Amino acid sequence: MSPSYTLAEGAPQALNTSSVQLRNGHGGGHVLLQDTQLIETLAHFNRERVPERVVHAKAAGAYGEFEATHDVSDLTDASFLSEIGKKTKVMLRVSTVGPERGSADTIRDVHGWAMKLYTDEGNLDWVFNNTAVFFVRDPIKFPSVNRAHKRHPRTNMPDADMFWDFHVGNPEGTHQLLHLFSDRGTPASIRHMNAYSGHTYTFTKADGSFRYIKVHIKTKQGVKNLSADEAVRLAGEDPDHLVRDLFDAVEAKNFPQWDIFVQVLEPEQAEKYHINIFDMTKVWPHAEVPLRPIGRLTINTNPRNYFADIEQAAFSPSNMVPGWGPSADPMLQARMFAYPDAARYRLGINYQQLPTNKALAPVYVPTQRDGFMNFSDNYGDDPNYVNSMLRPVTFKTSVVQAATTLSGKHQQWVGTMAANFTTEVTPDDFVQATALWHVLGREPGHQARLVENLAGSISGITVPALLTEVYKCFAQVDPQLAFKIQASVEAKKNKSNGTNGTTHIVRETSQYK
Ligand code: NDP
Repeated sequence: MSPSYTLAEGAPQALNTSSVQLRNGHGGGHVLLQDTQLIETLAHFNRERVPERVVHAKAAGAYGEFEATHDVSDLTDASFLSEIGKKTKVMLRVSTVGPERGSADTIRDVHGWAMKLYTDEGNLDWVFNNTAVFFVRDPIKFPSVNRAHKRHPRTNMPDADMFWDFHVGNPEGTHQLLHLFSDRGTPASIRHMNAYSGHTYTFTKADGSFRYIKVHIKTKQGVKNLSADEAVRLAGEDPDHLVRDLFDAVEAKNFPQWDIFVQVLEPEQAEKYHINIFDMTKVWPHAEVPLRPIGRLTINTNPRNYFADIEQAAFSPSNMVPGWGPSADPMLQARMFAYPDAARYRLGINYQQLPTNKALAPVYVPTQRDGFMNFSDNYGDDPNYVNSMLRPVTFKTSVVQAATTLSGKHQQWVGTMAANFTTEVTPDDFVQATALWHVLGREPGHQARLVENLAGSISGITVPALLTEVYKCFAQVDPQLAFKIQASVEAKKNKSNGTNGTTHIVRETSQYK
């Protein structure tokens, strides 16, 4: 049966395609303030947008399920992992980071991988990326790296000088730059993409024990990427390529799957480990910390409505469940504040009541009530204060935090302090970037493509001193990489100047000192 049209407060209407007008007899008409349907139609249209996410605005989303595939009871009490075969509903939102909601999704960028697991002990959000590391490791730099990747404050355009000025000034991100400018910076589809926690988290048990973990989500479809040319072509021809590919695959019941693994370090191992496990610019090499399988992800249902299901979704690494905890990674600590703060601004203080964010597990938090747009029963007459003897609440006392012992000084790095502070950049920060450069060397042509992709961006630099600093930065990864980038940039600049390769490339490592 067709639905019967009404106004938003239920009044049936005769028609919704003409306004009430005071006709002047010559074809004109004055509209009336009393035409509630017209006023509501226009007023609601003016307010249809919620603020766009400042990062991760453009996205695809869908639902699916996580299935526990292995016994991990020695590591965690997390209920969703408690039995082999146990299934948990999941909502996935995969985004680009820098560009706006209407932008092309095949452009080179890191891709966000946000996943809400609606577990039977509350929502667990995995707010990951398709790269295992990040550009910065001190959260105070987070807004800066994103601004440098977005639009110039004067020209309102992306700006190579701004981008590279940030990165030579903050070279701890060089490892991540290699990921971004490798083939994986332009994935062929979401289905062919891996994702990584990046951060170190903890698996916890009720006996107070804990382990440090990193999560790896590996595509069963195989990693596939677009060539740089294909990505640019699709940006024009099909700017929603990644959104369309996932939607069409799910509609066609071609459900994509991923295997999920953890790397695990015992606290004692972590203390002695040669890598700072709280540094988000570093991986744990596979040979040292092997992957252990925990589950499988299947995406099998498209959203019924994009705005309700995906745009109104809010994810935060602070949404954790018993058995899963944070670590002392400063970036993670800050994100645990920043993500819910962004949701409160974007969606309002009661965003957790929106159907897409609402836990499927029972929720009872009567000390969190009222506020704008509260559409729950607001806990009726239950006490709105703690420790009521009139209507006491019960607690799950077995829920514990990882019992880490903390000691130290409150410090801010000011440039002359001892090593091991997150802001300081040392030669050690280039070791894993160099390892990736060699990993790319295993695949024919990949190093050359990385060089071309980097040179394409670097050749937009207009300040010669900045260009020199960029070469010096990549020379710390490998002098050959810097030589090759410089040669390609010079060739591009000569071509656009109409000159014929007159620049001399000095093939000495000392050039970059
Ligand atoms: P291995 O030498 O054991 O393996 C290399 C890994 O690099 C692969 O397992 C793969 O990760 C990843 N990789 C392969 N091709 C590419 C590519 N084109 N772009 C980006 N990543 C690729 O790795 P190690 O653990 O010894 O680390 C070496 C380097 O590999 C690291 O410095 C890091 O840059 C990169 N890497 C390491 C990861 C880790 O967690 N150890 C994860 C991802 C990258 P995958 O199987 O996840 O696709």
